[in-house]
Amino acid sequence: MDTILVVNAGSSSVKFQIFSVEGEGILRRQIKGQIDGIASRPRLRASGANGETLAERAYPIEAVANVPAAMEIAGSWLRDELRIHPIAVGHRVVHGGPDFDRPVSIDHGVVARLERFVNLAPLHQPHNLAPIRSILAGFPSLPQVACFDTAFHRTHSAVADHYAIPHRLHAEGVRRYGFHGLSYEYVAKALPRVAPDIANRRVIVAHLGSGASMCALNEGRSVESTMGFTALDGLPMGTRPGQLDPGVVLYLISEKGMSASNVQDFLYRDCGLKGLSGVSNDMRELEASDDAKAKLAIDYFVYRICLNAGMLAAALQGLDAFVFTAGIGENSATIRARVVEQLGWLGVSLDHAGNSRNSRLISRSESRIPVYVVPTDEELMIAQHTLSLLMKQPSGNSRQERAS
Ligand code: AMP
Repeated sequence: MDTILVVNAGSSSVKFQIFSVEGEGILRRQIKGQIDGIASRPRLRASGANGETLAERAYPIEAVANVPAAMEIAGSWLRDELRIHPIAVGHRVVHGGPDFDRPVSIDHGVVARLERFVNLAPLHQPHNLAPIRSILAGFPSLPQVACFDTAFHRTHSAVADHYAIPHRLHAEGVRRYGFHGLSYEYVAKALPRVAPDIANRRVIVAHLGSGASMCALNEGRSVESTMGFTALDGLPMGTRPGQLDPGVVLYLISEKGMSASNVQDFLYRDCGLKGLSGVSNDMRELEASDDAKAKLAIDYFVYRICLNAGMLAAALQGLDAFVFTAGIGENSATIRARVVEQLGWLGVSLDHAGNSRNSRLISRSESRIPVYVVPTDEELMIAQHTLSLLMKQPSGNSRQERAS
């Protein structure tokens, strides 16, 4: 059986999935796994296609001190115990910089170019590149593909891509990139099947997970995003503040004596729903809490989604559909109901029964704008890109040279 390995590596975890290739480009998910607790309490957990547990193991801290070590453990578990030898590996890479507007086959030259973007995403890019480098070293003939969170947004116009700062900074890469592009691309590709009437029209997609952003799609292409230079901007998130006056950062430095790395930690880890509620970064816990600050955090989350919906509708010069996706968007009927209620002025009206069942279409038939729930699948998107780039390679390259 031909398989594709998808890797999503972060600072403290490596997530991986195995897809089987079942003819005609059809992919089926076979394994979902992750090694988390890298350099703290390393654990391998993996489940099969029906959710059955395949592995649940702890490792001593010195055995999994970094991302390459985690990748090695996951790789040898797949190879030696499950006898899985993927024909290619697809990687989630957060930053493709100004140039990469689509997935790319990886070689040493591409890795060198992607290393130049480390300073644009210092918390993510090095961890994304680490497994690429170790696979290049250990299995040089195994095809690898990089899929970028920024690429889908490279269709933005100049006004959407710029900040009002001197040009030289834009030239060196300080731009409004936008993120969650693999999720938006998946949704854009799913819409012709899910909602053919609106798939080629003006659609706002709200990716509401522990990271959250919104994207304006016109004819299936991204025209605007609530995120910008980094994944800090836009909506409030689990632990990130979203839109923030840069003066607040100056205040933290000048009045609180915080260093750049203190501010970075603060903005990525201590703000958002967690900071505002003082209760949790997890929406389920906030919804279950009686705490007044948990309620304020939810109110703020909903308010900012609706403010940003107005901004994106202006970018689109109108609106033909609204889509919810990701953990909160797919599962929280409460948040969806509150957002739809606050967007009533746009002529949206909710089908409460459909919403509480997490139906695909959750607006009433008389709603001027239909509202959908479309589960996202970034890993499948990566596997599809990987397979299609593999198909385009000169024949005979990959399939005989799989990792052994
Ligand atoms: P993600 O990053 O896409 O996995 O989404 C994670 C977020 O989704 C967390 O804030 C979870 O609390 C939230 N979430 C998942 N399931 C539910 C649910 N049934 N109700 C409310 N929030 C949920």
